[in-house]
Amino acid sequence: MKKYNFNAGPSMLPREVIENTAKQLLDFNGSGLSLMEISHRAKDFQPVVDECVALFKELLDIPAGYSVIFLGGGASLQFMQIPANFLVKKAAYVNSGVWAKKAMKEAKLFGEVVEVASSADGGYTSYPKGFEANVPADADYLHVCTNNTIYGTECRKDFDVKVPLVADMSSDIMSRPVDVAKYNAIYAGAQKNLAMAGVTVIIVKDDALGKAPRELPTMLDYRTHVEKGSMFNTPPVVPIYSMLENLRWLKKNGGVEAADKRAHERAAALYAEIDRNKLFKGTVEEASRSVMNLCFVMNEDYAELEKPFLDFATERGIVGIKGHRSVGGFRASCYNAQTMEGVKALIQAMKDFEAKH
Ligand code: PMP
Repeated sequence: MKKYNFNAGPSMLPREVIENTAKQLLDFNGSGLSLMEISHRAKDFQPVVDECVALFKELLDIPAGYSVIFLGGGASLQFMQIPANFLVKKAAYVNSGVWAKKAMKEAKLFGEVVEVASSADGGYTSYPKGFEANVPADADYLHVCTNNTIYGTECRKDFDVKVPLVADMSSDIMSRPVDVAKYNAIYAGAQKNLAMAGVTVIIVKDDALGKAPRELPTMLDYRTHVEKGSMFNTPPVVPIYSMLENLRWLKKNGGVEAADKRAHERAAALYAEIDRNKLFKGTVEEASRSVMNLCFVMNEDYAELEKPFLDFATERGIVGIKGHRSVGGFRASCYNAQTMEGVKALIQAMKDFEAKH
């Protein structure tokens, strides 16, 4: 049976990305060795890293003076590595969800943290607004999580503030054009919009590095990885290769502008059904609705139908729509690889389930 994958991460990847990566797993570039077996210093692997960096710069239109590095440790390591490298005295954070809060917690280990806005009181069902003027002019940076994977809220813009931005873009990177010049750093775990799990991408502004007043362990200092082209230690070879295939696919399919358009088309169709269908309702304030993670629940009168709908959808090959364990309900993740066909299958399931009740 055809599967429609709405997992929040690791998540769906384009079929050709998986197939091309699978071929290299069996025989990397005709070498007779698997991609799993080659040295990261093999002459054929450096071009993989180089092309990945070049495609990243091209697709996100990254200005000169920025480096793109590939590390392990997930976005969670970045919660700590960002302040270690950039927090001199004080940093501003927007508390837009659990991941943003985790980032704040780590930053407090390195200096003063100012929470300039929070949507915690509303259960994170909206993206904080109108906080730009509250960002202290002497903050080293403003940290934002641009898409809150768990709650399905998203800012989908690059804020105008007096200080450089730092962003966790784990769940919306490469889904829209970004004005990278506003940022000192952008980081993202790969497992949603970039690649299979196992690699984290960090875009850093070169001349913002080396300002923090602390000695950094070698591995934590971004300069180590910038200088060594992500080869200071053994990088995650297979995930990086899968990212290369995915970036090639994205370029072939119109880049981030086209991805943005497709994301809005999918989200418009699914939110329209969530709003129309008597059984379901959205959980997020309309202006904050994410086009990446679409969250919804059963209407109060139909609360007992949550599990039956999940089973009904599963029988049709729809997987991964169970909401995050901390919020319940449903979450349909629609990253770049998601198709309108998948979204239509989910919409049809919602309609058919409604007809039965
Ligand atoms: N930030 C966001 C927005 C996320 O969605 C996630 C994971 N779902 C993380 C950070 C943590 O990422 P990782 O598991 O790669 O450390």
